[in-house]
Amino acid sequence: MKCPYCDRKPHEITEYVDAAKHEDMTPEEYVRSEEGTFDVRTQLFCCTKCYIKIGMPLINELREAFDYYRSNVEPLEG
Ligand SMILES: [Zn+2]
Repeated sequence: MKCPYCDRKPHEITEYVDAAKHEDMTPEEYVRSEEGTFDVRTQLFCCTKCYIKIGMPLINELREAFDYYRSNVEPLEG
């Protein structure tokens, strides 16, 4: 599970670490249940910082980018 744009995992991203602490969750659990860009199939999400940086695309567009990432850049293991 990670943001492919900055290559960071939830526990490396302050906004999720802080929010998860509030909810008494791990950062990974927080992204899984609260992050709207999280995609189960590819296990990718787009953190807020990157989402703004890449121009706030529609979720459909993000999903296509995630699919591309998994099939061409870094295939999902297991
Ligand atoms: Zn990011």
